[in-house]
Amino acid sequence: MVFEDVLKQFGKNTVLNNLNFSVEQGERVTLIGPSGSGKTTILRLLMTLEDLTGGYIYVDGDPLSYAKRDGKRVKLRPKEISRIRRRIGMVFQQFNLFPNMSVLDNVIEAPVHVLGIDKDEAREKAEKRLEQVGLGDKTNAHPTQLSGGQQQRVAIARALAMEPEILLLDEVTSALDPELVKDVLGVLRDLADTTDITMLIVTHEMQFARDVSNRVLMFDQGHIIEEAKPDVMFTDPTHRRTREFLEAIL
Ligand code: ATP
Repeated sequence: MVFEDVLKQFGKNTVLNNLNFSVEQGERVTLIGPSGSGKTTILRLLMTLEDLTGGYIYVDGDPLSYAKRDGKRVKLRPKEISRIRRRIGMVFQQFNLFPNMSVLDNVIEAPVHVLGIDKDEAREKAEKRLEQVGLGDKTNAHPTQLSGGQQQRVAIARALAMEPEILLLDEVTSALDPELVKDVLGVLRDLADTTDITMLIVTHEMQFARDVSNRVLMFDQGHIIEEAKPDVMFTDPTHRRTREFLEAIL
């Protein structure tokens, strides 16, 4: 995935300013930085939940929402956008499950309705996904009958059911009681160990970031001010702002 000269403004507020970075297939990259530095906005742009004010985002070479055509910046048609956007899955801080549907129905909803996969096939795959996140026995439960950690694992299974190339994780443990965090992070660690899915992670769980990421990007006011391997970033950061940020949260 490539961010090229990405600009994002909300009214007069410039949140991302001329941002350039790329993430290789299979890489795990953690975004850190103070509140309001633009981390969530990056994930939301990738999900096309926000419109790009300027610049381009490419997924494996394909433009996501704007393309360069004859030297002009052209917005892609909704169909083209959703075709690329399907290659990306996201797990949110607030699990965002459908409360009136069973766990299984939550997981098969998008494969059936968006990808048009046959229901029986989707169900079979969903059961495997739910087993993978340790919830093989909860397929018929409703989200309200589950703990926050279990609900978040359903949300992970649901994202994986679309077989995304890229998984975006936005503070996925922030809404959980501390004792439930471990299981969710365990599932994600397994995923990192057993697949080559690209991950873009926003988290305050620095040990997790250290364990799974290849690279950490430190954001401040919409810019990347430092980039390093986790061992270096968390023990010997170069930038004063990074040191201050890490001292405040560690
Ligand atoms: P946090 O760690 O608190 O989640 P963040 O680094 O993820 O912060 P963003 O959520 O990306 O930061 O927000 C960056 C800036 O964009 C903030 O100033 C925020 O107020 C602003 N912003 C985000 N979404 C909107 C919106 N929908 N409308 C207006 N401003 C927004």
